[in-house]
Amino acid sequence: MIDLLEKLVILKALFEKDKWSLRELSWRTGISEERLIEVINELCESYVIQRDGEFIAIASRDNPTKIKPWGWSIRHELVVGSTQVYARGLAPWSIVIAEHQIHGYGRHKRVWESNLGGIWATAVISLPADKSPYLNIAIPLVLQRVLRSIGVKTWIKWPNDIVFEERKLGGTLIEGVAFQDSITVYVGVGVNVNNYVGIPEATSLKKIIGLTPRNRVLAPFIGYLARVAKLVIEPSKLVDEYLSNLTTLNRVVVAETTDGIVEGRAVEVDEYGSLIVSTKSGAEVKLEPWRVIRLRHLD
Ligand code: ATP
Repeated sequence: MIDLLEKLVILKALFEKDKWSLRELSWRTGISEERLIEVINELCESYVIQRDGEFIAIASRDNPTKIKPWGWSIRHELVVGSTQVYARGLAPWSIVIAEHQIHGYGRHKRVWESNLGGIWATAVISLPADKSPYLNIAIPLVLQRVLRSIGVKTWIKWPNDIVFEERKLGGTLIEGVAFQDSITVYVGVGVNVNNYVGIPEATSLKKIIGLTPRNRVLAPFIGYLARVAKLVIEPSKLVDEYLSNLTTLNRVVVAETTDGIVEGRAVEVDEYGSLIVSTKSGAEVKLEPWRVIRLRHLD
């Protein structure tokens, strides 16, 4: 049985220096060379690790510290409670990326499983307060764009998930704090890349396309975030693109909301990201994302 702590000690060294010989890595971590080989074999399940003779390195394409986006300050941590909480201490245009979250959470503080090898990050952005509601559609959409651009036929499941063949591949989370006319938004993103996920309704890029260097997703995602203030200037364009990527559209759904159950066909999404559901009685009910605790597709 290989311990998480053992893996973390080795990862710490691998992120610290570009290349290690087995012997130096053993000295650095205090783990015997024989044991190192066993642990590294297991780490190779969740990371793109290069081995050249006795040299070991984490591939730079899988190393978030190698992303140097202009105008952003990047924090890389091995373990945090939640990147959403950590980000509260950061200035706008910072992003924290963790290898493991102890208390990762999703909407309504539901547990978000965050094992080694995934993308668990929160970006802090600042916007005029009146633009922030558009992020409900802009953020899932940019993650969707990135995943499609690497050849994975994903869809958005309203309000904030990215699914592949009905299985959850990733999710986004938007939390904000307003101050006068501007708002600081904590944009969380979780993508199952090469991590183990113990949830039957979930999937990962590794399962879909094989071991994937995380920067293929992370770098373009941060690139889109840098332009998000521009994106939300024309929300109507975003809505069209969001709708054409939305698997929930025209499906029968049941939503558990803060004021009861709503069942019907999903017919529209407005620019604030609210879902319009046409019920059996012919009424159209508007579901704001924050009001919906859970949404299921019934067909
Ligand atoms: P749900 O997926 O339950 O319909 P939701 O889309 O609002 O709800 P969130 O609350 O954002 O989801 O995320 C938490 C839920 O996601 C958990 O209840 C669990 O079912 C699922 N989940 C947790 N960790 C992962 C993960 N790493 N990958 C995919 N799904 C996950």
